[in-house]
Amino acid sequence: MIRRPVTSALIAAASLAAASAAHAEETRPAWALVLHGGAGVIERGDMDEATESAYRSALGDALALGASMLEAGAPAMDVVEAMIQALEDDPLFNAGRGAVFTSDGRIEHDASVMRASDLQAGAVAGVRGVRHPISLARAVMEDSPHVMLQGAGAESFADDQGLERIEESYFFTERRWQAMVRQVAALGLPVPPRPDGAPEPEPVREGSRQQMEREHRFGTGGVVALDRSGEMVAGTSTGGTTAKRWGRVGDSPVIGAGTYAGGDCGVSATGTGEYFIRLSVAARVCARIELAGEDGQTAADTVIQDELLAMGGDGGVVMLHDGAPLWSFNTSGMYRAAQVAGGEPMVAIFEDEG
Ligand code: ASP
Repeated sequence: MIRRPVTSALIAAASLAAASAAHAEETRPAWALVLHGGAGVIERGDMDEATESAYRSALGDALALGASMLEAGAPAMDVVEAMIQALEDDPLFNAGRGAVFTSDGRIEHDASVMRASDLQAGAVAGVRGVRHPISLARAVMEDSPHVMLQGAGAESFADDQGLERIEESYFFTERRWQAMVRQVAALGLPVPPRPDGAPEPEPVREGSRQQMEREHRFGTGGVVALDRSGEMVAGTSTGGTTAKRWGRVGDSPVIGAGTYAGGDCGVSATGTGEYFIRLSVAARVCARIELAGEDGQTAADTVIQDELLAMGGDGGVVMLHDGAPLWSFNTSGMYRAAQVAGGEPMVAIFEDEG
């Protein structure tokens, strides 16, 4: 066997890497977009038709909003913020309006955003009464010297920034309230009083209740967008987990766990945050690509289907790698959607789609 000197092998490897980077550059779409609306036990046939079509159209609308902005040349940061705001305004998702309740009947939001080109990031945890937590996370990144703010301090920063504050009853949804009531009862905790300003109790549609129970706590929103300038941004927003206690904070506002963007890789995660934090899921997926040279799908599958699952963690990620939308989840479904410049929109819920 002829052994090539190490240096020439290195040079060959380097030029191969350069060639493949150039190839990726050439084949990369002008813009790309992927989003999730949470992952969980979402099985075909379990969901009534009205609920399924409501989710599909909400995902499709958010995708269309982002795609039209990217097509028109909008920056990825604006696109991620606008799309997540749309998910936050939609009571179907566990973010903004429609967020899950804490065990004492409050709504505490977590959100984060990260930009790939300079690794700038902003995050908020446990904030109350801010209509768009994702905008607050962006403001932390752009207008404060910090990366993460929490609780009352984050809320006063929102006021300083002139962000929209709103009474807590705005976020109230009956199905999330009922889900929390069932959960605290199961934990043997006292059921908190209905919040001030909440509407009179109303019956929850059976299909929606069943769905809610199966969906468990998921419904978080996340987006990764690559714009025409080559900038990529990832963002995530959530109410966390139903009946969370003691100021619990999940992975969504933790940079590297629920959200990460760096180099050619951007990730937003959803699932039981405790596992995602311990495994640094979002950064780990990107690190496997960068350091182990894996392709994006292999990296995501290894982390989600092998490592996370081995720890007992459930959920998934959506990501862009080199402008290609990818996802991986170890639950039976994940609300998700994707599109690239010149391509068709894709909206999917169940495992065997898309
Ligand atoms: N990851 C979120 C949390 O643990 C929940 C979710 O994604 O649904 O707070």
